[in-house]
Amino acid sequence: MRIIIIGAGPGGYETAAEAAAHGIEVVLVSDGPLGGTCLNEGCIPTKTLCALDSPDLERKREVIEQLRAGIAQLLKNKLITLIYGKARLSSSRSITVAPADGGESLSFEGDAIIIATGSVSASLPIPGAGLALDSSAMLQLPGVPERLCVIGGGVIGLEFASIFRKFGSEVTVLEYCPNILPRFDSDLAKRLKASLAKRGITIETSAKVSAIEPGKVLWSKGDKDFQTAADCILMAVGRRPNLQSLNLDEAGIEYTPRGIKVDENMQTSLPGIYAVGDITGGMMLAHVASAQGRKALAHIINKNCGTDFSVVPAAVFTVPEAASVGRTEEECEGLEICTGKANYRANGKAVSSGEADGWCKIIALKGSGRIIGAHILGAHASDLIHEAAVLIALGATVQQARDIIHAHPTLSEVLGAAAAACKYE
Ligand code: FAD
Ligand code: NAD
Repeated sequence: MRIIIIGAGPGGYETAAEAAAHGIEVVLVSDGPLGGTCLNEGCIPTKTLCALDSPDLERKREVIEQLRAGIAQLLKNKLITLIYGKARLSSSRSITVAPADGGESLSFEGDAIIIATGSVSASLPIPGAGLALDSSAMLQLPGVPERLCVIGGGVIGLEFASIFRKFGSEVTVLEYCPNILPRFDSDLAKRLKASLAKRGITIETSAKVSAIEPGKVLWSKGDKDFQTAADCILMAVGRRPNLQSLNLDEAGIEYTPRGIKVDENMQTSLPGIYAVGDITGGMMLAHVASAQGRKALAHIINKNCGTDFSVVPAAVFTVPEAASVGRTEEECEGLEICTGKANYRANGKAVSSGEADGWCKIIALKGSGRIIGAHILGAHASDLIHEAAVLIALGATVQQARDIIHAHPTLSEVLGAAAAACKYE
C-alpha cells in the first residue's frame, strides 16, 4: 500500500512516520520546511520567545533547527520518500508536484491521499491593512517596539502581547468581541484579562478597527472614535485554510472558505482522499492536526481509533497561562451543572514559589457528578490541564477526582481543591 501526504506540518509528518511504522510506503510532499507552521512560525518559536527576556533570534533558530533535525531523523525510513515542492491533485488517486528546485514536474499515484496543507494568517479588509505585520513577520523582529498595538484578542494576539510586554513594549490589544478569547470559558477569559491588565497590558474590547495609518490604528467603540499610536502593529484576527493551489474544484472535493469538508474519519467528499489539520478549519491546534492524521490513517488501514475529539486540551501561553478542556460554561446550556472553584493563593506551592495569581474551575453534571469541563488560569496551567483531560476522557466523577491523592505541596492540589468545592449531590 502507498499513501500520498501533502504537507509536512504536524498533520503530515507525524502521519507519515506512523504510516511507515505500519509498513506502508509514503510519499510526503512539502513546499515548506519540515515541521510546518507549528515548528517554523508557530508553536515552537513563540514558546521559545515566552522563555526569553529579549528577542534572541539566534536562540530561536537553534531551537527550531534542533527540532527539525529530529523530524528529519524520524522520517529517515526507506518506506518514506520526501519531496520538496508544491503538490496539486490530478485525480482521486494521483498528484503532480512542481519541485522546489525548479525541475520538471513529477507525478505520484497512491491508494489514498491525505491533504495536510495547513493555514495562513487572515487580515482585515480595511484601509492600511498592509501596514500591519502578521505573526510570522513578528517572529523576525530584531528589536523591541516601544509601542505595540495588537489587533485581535485571540490566542495569537494575547501570546504576542504577553511576550512583548515582558520584553518592555507598551502594549494595547484591540478586540472586536465583548471579551478576549471569545471561544473560551468567559469566566476564564475575564480573569485572564484582569491578570494581563495587572501586568500593564491595555485591553480594549468591543473595539471596531476601521483603518491603519502610518504610526496609528483608528478604531471606534460605540459611537466614540479613538486612535492608538504604535511603532508596530500585529494583525491577529484568525487564520484561513491553505486551499489554493490544490486543484480542489477540478478534483471535485467539497470545501467552504472555512476549510475542506470531512466526515468523522477525516475523509473528504471524494472517497480515498482525506484532509487533516488546519486545512479542515476546525480547532487549529498542532495536537489536533496530528490526532486527525492518526484518525485518517486508522480508517485507511481499517483499524479502530478511539480518539475523542470532544476532549481536546488547549493552552494559551500568556503570563499567566490559561488552559481549558471539555465544555465551557456557555456550552452547558440546557444541562444541569455545578461548578467547583479553587484559587492558587490558597495553594502552598503557588504561594511559596511566588505564583499565587491563578484559579481553577471544574464543571460537572449535577446528580451524577460526571466531570465535563475544566478551566485553569495560572502558572503551569498548560501542564495541569491534562489531569482534567484524563478525568473527562475516562468519564470520571467529582467524587473519583476527590478520591485521588495529590502530592503536597504541588500545584496539582488546585484541581483536587476545585473538585472538593464542587457540590454535585
Ligand atoms: P501546517 O503546520 O501549517 O503545515 C502545512 C504544511 O503544508 C506547510 O509546511 C506548507 O508549506 C505545506 N503546504 C501547503 N500547501 C502545499 C502544497 N500545495 N504542496 C505541498 N506542501 C504544501 N498550535 C498549538 O497546538 N499550540 C501552540 O502553541 C500553537 N502556537 C501557534 C502560534 C502561532 C504564531 C501560530 C501561527 C500557530 C500556532 N499554533 C499552535 C497552531 C499550529 O501551528 C497549527 O495548528 C498546526 O501547525 C497545523 O498543522 P497542519 O499540519 O495542519 O499544518
Ligand atoms: P483566534 O480566532 O484565536 O482569534 C482572533 C481574534 O481576533 C478573536 O478574538 C476575534 O474576535 C478577533 N477579531 C476578529 N476580527 C476582528 C476585528 N475586526 N477587530 C478586532 N478583533 C477582531 O485566531 P488567532 O489568534 O489568529 O489564532 C489562529 C489559530 O491559531 C487559532 O485557532 C489558535 O487555536 C491557533 N493558535 C493556537 C495557539 C495555542 O494553542 N497556544 C497559539 C497561537 C495560535
